[in-house]
Amino acid sequence: MLSYLHAFHAGNFADVQKHAALTLTLSMMQAKASGIACFDTHAGSAIYDLDSERAKKTGEADTGVQRLWNVRGQVRSGDWQPLLKVLSELNAGEGELTVYPGSPVWFRDFLRDDDSLTTFELHPAEGDQLAGWASAQRVRVMREDGLKGLLKQLPPRQPRLLVLVDPSYEIKSDYADVASTLQKAWQKCRHGVYLIWYPILSSGLQQDLKDAVQNSSVRKVLCSEVHLNNPPSRGMTGSGMLLVNPPWGFDERLSAMMEDISGSDGLDVRHQLDWLVPE
Ligand code: SAM
Repeated sequence: MLSYLHAFHAGNFADVQKHAALTLTLSMMQAKASGIACFDTHAGSAIYDLDSERAKKTGEADTGVQRLWNVRGQVRSGDWQPLLKVLSELNAGEGELTVYPGSPVWFRDFLRDDDSLTTFELHPAEGDQLAGWASAQRVRVMREDGLKGLLKQLPPRQPRLLVLVDPSYEIKSDYADVASTLQKAWQKCRHGVYLIWYPILSSGLQQDLKDAVQNSSVRKVLCSEVHLNNPPSRGMTGSGMLLVNPPWGFDERLSAMMEDISGSDGLDVRHQLDWLVPE
């Protein structure tokens, strides 16, 4: 049974890192004209109300996207602009943000005529909300398992591929399943760009995923980790992403973005970037 609801966490520091990496990847891939098949294997409900009871209960956006919003006038990297533009279009006022866009919305904002977006969501209520939003968009919604569903769709019709894998990791085996799906997807589409999010936990469970990817035949895997300067003693102490086949120069541009918002008036984090698997 699925119990995770992203509405409790939308716009937190992990979403800021994830969506910064996603929008940067889309911008950089679209420097070339050829079409991109985009897949969002764990899409969520697309639009999140930051004034909702769920969001207010955790207040996670206050130390995430709200901090980015507060320092937006000081960021030096121009790569923040597409993300800030979407936030300002969705939010009327200058002060508190009230709406946060989930991954399908970020993808949708970039979609060109030759690009496509397929989303997967298994939770019934989240799937209903996603489908409601997507009905007015050029977005396909599949209400099935995102990992198995992705493999059925590969290789895509378009010459290029971008996949976001963002599970809730409610089941311990999710870490191994993500790694084995990446291996299978990569075998079907080696040139694909794969972005895989994982939590950094005090228990260290995420190491299973990193070890499995390191021991697979997948090459060119960048690892971006954001560590909280004041982590809780248990639970999530940071947010990580594995980025397979990132565009050339992506590492420097993501580092510059994260440096802009790492200070104590920003996300109050340390950002680390290393190659988990070189070319
Ligand atoms: N990617 C979203 C974003 O960035 O806005 C957030 C996704 S949230 C972390 C994970 C989502 O995956 C939840 O909505 C959950 O219901 C859904 N989910 C869980 N298991 C799934 C599965 N096997 N296949 C597809 N979706 C699943």
